[in-house]
Amino acid sequence: MFSRINRLRKTAVFRLTLWYSAVLVLSCFAVLGLTYSLLFTSLRRDDRTFIRSKLGHLAARYDEAGLQATVKEIEDENAFAEDEPYFARLAEADNRTLYVTLPARWPGFDVDLLERQPPPTPGTWINLTQRNGRDVLETATHVLADGRLLQAGQSSGERNHVLGHMLRVLATVIGPLVLGGFVGGLFLARRHFRPVRDLIRAAKSIVDTGRVDARVSLPVHRPGSELEQLVTLFNRMLERIESLIAGMREALDNVAHDLRTPLTRLRGTAEAALLPGHDLGAAREALAECLEESDEILTMLTTLMDISEAETGTMKLAREPVDLVPVLADAADLYRFVAEEKAVTLSLALPPELVVVGDPHRLRQVFANLMDNAVKYTPWGGRVSIAASEQEGQAVVVVEDTGPGIPPEEMPHIWQRLYRGDKSRSQPGLGLGLSLVRAMLQAHGGTVEAASGPGAGARFTVVLPMPSAAGVADPNISQM
Ligand code: ADP
Repeated sequence: MFSRINRLRKTAVFRLTLWYSAVLVLSCFAVLGLTYSLLFTSLRRDDRTFIRSKLGHLAARYDEAGLQATVKEIEDENAFAEDEPYFARLAEADNRTLYVTLPARWPGFDVDLLERQPPPTPGTWINLTQRNGRDVLETATHVLADGRLLQAGQSSGERNHVLGHMLRVLATVIGPLVLGGFVGGLFLARRHFRPVRDLIRAAKSIVDTGRVDARVSLPVHRPGSELEQLVTLFNRMLERIESLIAGMREALDNVAHDLRTPLTRLRGTAEAALLPGHDLGAAREALAECLEESDEILTMLTTLMDISEAETGTMKLAREPVDLVPVLADAADLYRFVAEEKAVTLSLALPPELVVVGDPHRLRQVFANLMDNAVKYTPWGGRVSIAASEQEGQAVVVVEDTGPGIPPEEMPHIWQRLYRGDKSRSQPGLGLGLSLVRAMLQAHGGTVEAASGPGAGARFTVVLPMPSAAGVADPNISQM
């Protein structure tokens, strides 16, 4: 029980609610304080207005009818107007009391004290405190035409009673208000933080089970809020991790599966060479075969690793400004000899300069693979054309051939690792070239697309972003 409370105390929900409640309490007190002081000021103003008007009225009466009539007026008013009684005093100019009256409901005021003070200045308020210290008798003074003094006043008792009542009501209300605020705040904060709890639960389940697919489905609250964005990003991150793990697993399975055949072949060759009756010449031949097989295995492994690294974004690219023109020309030179042997025309249409940012070694690999395929699959007397240009601030390279093309049913598979088309099996290859091309281009922020009609040859279009349209040289095409 205690550990639960302790845990709750450390949560952001609890702290937020505490802050919320503290702000609520402070705001309540500020509002109450302000209300109290406004009410106090307004009541006191009313009391003083009443006293001033009483003074004016009594002074007029005095001037008109003299002392006795004024005293009678005071007595009558205090006797009949019970809800608004007032204190009154008439004194000589030297402050000696002639007449004084204090309503019976205001006991405990020493009105004789007023006589013992020097004559009061008109316009000032004299406060006489009750003996028990609770209320105050507020009096104002008027100098009559004959120099005598007329004083009237009211006790603050009524006012204090109203204010005290208000305070008692507010004190009764504030407790439940703060409690309600705390409970409501806790409820709202818990509701608001539900996605965070879901995230924690999902992360914990991943940590505990090690399975990315074991995550709970995360509810998406309040569109556009930061929490909704966090949840969406978290979901996307999990999806990405899951697909990367699946990709790695698939690559591993493929490697295991595809290495089995060449390794078995390698083992078979070595075993056969060791059988009795083999002369040195046969043994050398077997060793040469083993060497060839192991080279193929090494190439396959390196390519598979490269693809995985490029796809997962862990490949280290030595990025620098690269002019694609010499890269394409060098790659074409590599295949010119093989093309000539098949009487395949290799033509290039390149601008003077086409600069992108990337790893020159990797980009060379990309175009070499595309040209390798084009020359490989184009039959005797065909044609392979390579064209490069700048289009809308992007470098576009097209490698096109007049070979058999790619059947529509094979088109979706050509980018898969180790996939080889049916008719391609007669040609050497590992089925990794296009996967590598696509992965490398993705790592460079580029794309590659294939197009082909039956018997119409294949056309591969590579698009790479350029650093900026400015600075790119005049794209006049030169034939080579
Ligand atoms: P491979 O080692 O088989 O060439 P790739 O990954 O480079 O592997 O290509 C995958 C498949 O795509 C090939 O087996 C082939 O069927 C098809 N392909 C690729 N390029 C061409 C092309 N220029 N013409 C016809 N088919 C092609």
